[in-house]
Amino acid sequence: MSYSFVFKRGEKMNYNQLYELQCMRIRREAMEKSYPREREMKLRRRKKELLTEKQDLILLEEKLRCQMKDIHRLQDEKQTIVEEISKINEDLYSNRFTAKELTSMQNRLENLESTLANRKARIEKENTQLMSKKSGLKDRKNGLVDRMKDYQGKVEEYLQERNRLLEKLKQLDEQIVEFVGQLGEEERGFYDNENTKFGIQMLSILKKGRFCSSCSMLLETDTIGAVKANQGGVRCQSCDRVIYNLEE
Ligand SMILES: [Zn+2]
Repeated sequence: MSYSFVFKRGEKMNYNQLYELQCMRIRREAMEKSYPREREMKLRRRKKELLTEKQDLILLEEKLRCQMKDIHRLQDEKQTIVEEISKINEDLYSNRFTAKELTSMQNRLENLESTLANRKARIEKENTQLMSKKSGLKDRKNGLVDRMKDYQGKVEEYLQERNRLLEKLKQLDEQIVEFVGQLGEEERGFYDNENTKFGIQMLSILKKGRFCSSCSMLLETDTIGAVKANQGGVRCQSCDRVIYNLEE
């Protein structure tokens, strides 16, 4: 029994097609790596900061409301004192009280007037403080609104870019699936095998005419000659990938 020719596995295979597929998949991988993850993280951090600041401002606003209530309470006290002073002043000139009682009322009046002066001073001081804090709060709120708008703009931009990228990836994925579907039986078998073994970079090419582009090993002279003579299925002696006749 004899053979008229020796068929070497891989010799008749369409390596151009396989190499094109590899290029498509490398492009896809690079595109996936360009996904703006860093930016996404930055935006997430920014959002957290803005929400914390918003929470701070809400707490501050609540504090100022409490201070406002304190001031109202002081004002009510002041009013009560004013009314009592006016009542004592009326009584003092009514001729209805003994000298001893009048002295006691006189003392009470002096006490009340001192307390009233004290209340007035406190109300004024607290009002001034409150106004200044309110104005500070307003400035911070406006600043926060501006920063929120800026953040929203950046999120919009980011989402658009991300969606464009995802759309491109989807298209490329579809192209790759279609391409793989159109491979011949032998190419398909080769693709499945080599892909399992080597991943995306399943074919090597010649680097500077002498080296394997995948593992950078200096190739044997016979190997280089065979590749350049378009002999199919020639493998790198080091990484075992098939070397496609294309120079880098
Ligand atoms: Zn190699």
